[in-house]
Amino acid sequence: MRLVLLGPPGAGKGTQASAIVKKYNIPHISTGDIFRANIKAGTELGKKAKEYMDKGLLVPDDLVVSIVKERLAENDCKEGFLLDGFPRTVNQGEALDIELEQMGLKLDKVVNIDVEREVLIERAIGRRICKSCGATYHIKFNPPKEEGICNVCEGKLFQRDDDKKETVERRIEVYQKQTKPLIDYYTKKRLILNVDGSKPIDILFEEIIKALE
Ligand code: ADP
Ligand code: ADP
Ligand code: ZN
Repeated sequence: MRLVLLGPPGAGKGTQASAIVKKYNIPHISTGDIFRANIKAGTELGKKAKEYMDKGLLVPDDLVVSIVKERLAENDCKEGFLLDGFPRTVNQGEALDIELEQMGLKLDKVVNIDVEREVLIERAIGRRICKSCGATYHIKFNPPKEEGICNVCEGKLFQRDDDKKETVERRIEVYQKQTKPLIDYYTKKRLILNVDGSKPIDILFEEIIKALE
């Protein structure tokens, strides 16, 4: 299964991605996670990416495309993969098409998660992430059993630097301008699966799996 998850910031891409990759046993490729890992490790790539991420802007296409190309060339992507948060511009979408064609591969589906603006803001601001294992929670919609502590590994939960109200608003604007055109791009290729992201996590997951089968 070769999938792309598309949607505005806070729509629930990462949450659904974690469940989908478990079900299909495919690697979860999140460009946001790759950048955050690089920031943590203090790499050159991390330093460059952080300048854009802190402002709620997209990291330049050339940087993103080259890391995704490298990642797709790894062995574990042979049987499939899930791209979460990539592509985010039509230019990235075209670059992905070219890369996959060279590899002799095709996407199976692009799952487009749609959620209204007010809900996105509330979801992003209440998001909490485990420092140790990366599991995602929400203070109201998906709280951990014990406040501030991960259910899975007992790691400490933290809030992302870019999950502040102003930055989230900027990210939604950027999504509208730069990412939303990809819905048209993939609709024309007959790959899009539109789902209503306002539904509860488990129900949405079941709906996606049903549609993929
Ligand atoms: P969210 O899931 O809330 O949309 P991500 O973790 O996917 O957030 O992305 C966080 C930030 O990382 C983005 O705001 C952007 O700066 C950068 N980023 C992630 N993926 C891409 C991409 N494909 N192209 C450009 N920038 C990206
Ligand atoms: P994205 O990767 O699209 O930015 P996330 O998966 O990180 O989104 O979800 C954003 C926040 O919303 C997280 O705090 C998550 O726990 C919560 N969330 C995700 N899906 C749902 C849902 N269907 N209903 C309510 N809250 C959700
Ligand atoms: Zn954890």
